[in-house]
Amino acid sequence: MTFTCGGLPAAGALLAFFCTSSALSRVGERRKRGLPLAQAKGSRRDAWQVLANGGVATLCAVAGQPQGLVGALAAAGADTWATELGLLSRSPPRLVTSLRRVPAGTSGGVTPLGLLASVGGAVAVGAGYAALGGEASALRRSLVGGLSGALVDSLLGATLQAEYWCAGCQSATEDSRHPRCGSRTRLRRGYRWLSNDAVNALATLVGAGIALI
Ligand SMILES: [Zn+2]
Repeated sequence: MTFTCGGLPAAGALLAFFCTSSALSRVGERRKRGLPLAQAKGSRRDAWQVLANGGVATLCAVAGQPQGLVGALAAAGADTWATELGLLSRSPPRLVTSLRRVPAGTSGGVTPLGLLASVGGAVAVGAGYAALGGEASALRRSLVGGLSGALVDSLLGATLQAEYWCAGCQSATEDSRHPRCGSRTRLRRGYRWLSNDAVNALATLVGAGIALI
């Protein structure tokens, strides 16, 4: 749908997001696996994750709003890059709201390395769009849209997003069933309906809106 409705530039943006995200998930894989809160799903993307990251972009393509697609994918790219590279940061993250130190992998935790990576992820999407014949203004839109989306992602992650606690492992997780040990967890903070996927989808919506504006 992206290619059919958005043409080559839109496909370039999608490919830039997909290829760089897949590659970065393999950077420092062993170290990331060892982190207590790391993305336990690993680099594999399930259908909900795909919808959360690509749904808004696809809608924009179908609606004939390629700049919205760029912004949505830039937000997804910024978040993915920030997560994959930020997890490798030597300095522990701080919560975006209170600046309190939190364990690596905590939703809403930010590091300078992750922030820098989110710029790279956002710009990569705009560059993919421009490289395959899209307007050069996509670079600016992807930067602003992508960073805005990533900021919303972190803010929601630190405040309203559901966070669960696994009593067996004594660790926090984003899932109602702990991916590491498979046991049920209990809601510790936030809203049950505001899952990590829902937060990602909202962040791409913000990215699309800002890019269009
Ligand atoms: Zn557990």
